[in-house]
Amino acid sequence: MKLEYIVGFAVGSLVFLFIRGVNTLPALLMGALLYLLMTQSGGLRDFGRRKAGAVVGDRPDVTFHDVGGQAVAKRELVEALEFLKDLEHAKALGIRPLKGILLSGPPGTGKTLLAKAAANYTDSVFLSASGSEFIEVYAGLGAQRVRELFQRARKLAREKKKSGAIIFIDEIEVLAGKRGSQVGHLEYDQTLNQLLVEMDGLSLDDDVRILVIGATNRPDLLDPAIQRPGRFDRMVRVDLPDKEGRLEILKMHLRNKPLDKSVDLEALAKETFGLSGAHLESLCNEAAILALRKRAKKVGDEELREALDKVIMGEKLDRRPSETELRRVAVHEAGHAIVAEKVRPGSVAQVTVSPRGNALGYVRHSPQDDRYIYPRETLEEEIDILLAGALAEDVVLGSRSTGASNDFQRALDMAKRIVSYGMSPLGVVDRDTAGPDLLAKATREILKAAEERTLPLIRRYENVLRRIADDLMVKETISGDQLRELLGSASKVAWRWRKLPSNRGKVRSRVEA
Ligand code: ATP
Repeated sequence: MKLEYIVGFAVGSLVFLFIRGVNTLPALLMGALLYLLMTQSGGLRDFGRRKAGAVVGDRPDVTFHDVGGQAVAKRELVEALEFLKDLEHAKALGIRPLKGILLSGPPGTGKTLLAKAAANYTDSVFLSASGSEFIEVYAGLGAQRVRELFQRARKLAREKKKSGAIIFIDEIEVLAGKRGSQVGHLEYDQTLNQLLVEMDGLSLDDDVRILVIGATNRPDLLDPAIQRPGRFDRMVRVDLPDKEGRLEILKMHLRNKPLDKSVDLEALAKETFGLSGAHLESLCNEAAILALRKRAKKVGDEELREALDKVIMGEKLDRRPSETELRRVAVHEAGHAIVAEKVRPGSVAQVTVSPRGNALGYVRHSPQDDRYIYPRETLEEEIDILLAGALAEDVVLGSRSTGASNDFQRALDMAKRIVSYGMSPLGVVDRDTAGPDLLAKATREILKAAEERTLPLIRRYENVLRRIADDLMVKETISGDQLRELLGSASKVAWRWRKLPSNRGKVRSRVEA
């Protein structure tokens, strides 16, 4: 019987009893409570039976051309999908059907896009779900949802007259984590078992061929059973894009936005090392929003740079530090910038003292090349740059502040990495047996040596540091080129000063190239 009839009958009976003088108030209250419970949990019919997985569409519009970079992932995925495209050939060769592909990589790198493109490429329907949708406190519900998801995929494919369906499960580590490792492990284990049962039952002769694509940022958490041959036996890495990839993604997301001639996308791609496709998409969108706010007709370099700051550091804050605090921040950032420019010439993209996110100021670096391995010298340079802020405060203002705590933490982590990767004078050490004192001493020595290297550099450039800090207080932001100009002119002054006959033979120079 329909829910509406039951409700109508109940209300009618209550009215009748009320007319006959029966006290119906308790029954009314009970009814209201029941109604509230049902509406909170999605209605009587769905009570305890919420479905997992959203149907995104019969065949997504996204193609592999919409996925920037990721050439290797795309190639591997296309190779894996060939069997769905050429089924007869696959059958003739006796190929076991490919049932699952795992896409693993950092967030926002395009795993969902790739899965949608795979559905488009194989002309399949596409269903997407997230691992957490299957996790319930009631035993058996998760397993039931897995069953339903596969049934819905088949039904949808038949309705749409397609022979293939792709089920995309994001955060698959939640559903397919190592068995026995979860708190309410029985329910988790049943859900995973059901997924394995469904996948084991897939065959090339099914009228709808289902392919499950799982995505994860944590492949280390997955139960080994799901990677057994015949289940998710293809693992495709979807990494952060390299410079070429970033350029491609930027072009893709700027395609529909009018760009000013001043924009140098190559330089922007270089400066965005470490950003994912999702970050880059957000950057392009933010830049267009900024242009809109300025009533500009085109998106310019300025908007893109500001959007980059926003994506990396967070929203600009209205909070204005006091004059004294601002001076300290300016000196601190100028210290980082000068040392960065000296140890890695041309690497500073921008120095600013406008507060954003958790930072009162920051230096944006633009790496010369993407880096994947770090020799000891690079890590030491990094430590020098990190310590330079506090050392600059020391030299110019006579004391340090709490503003350097994050720098110190990062410098310490970097020093620990030098020790644990066997790059310190201790050589290769076992952290478990080397003893904390020995490791702490090695770490301290690395940091001390960095201070001894960096302090003279700060002293040598003290005058130019003060000038940069003054400039920052007025302009808020100076570009890498302006910084290099200031440093360059400082070098020329020093050179001229040394050339004067009266100064020959004196201390090498206060300001040196
Ligand atoms: P998560 O692991 O957080 O689920 P994901 O890897 O699945 O993330 P997507 O959802 O595919 O990432 O990407 C989010 C958005 O970022 C996309 O809609 C797209 O706009 C942009 N994007 C990410 N990667 C790329 C890429 N390689 N090319 C073009 N756009 C991309």
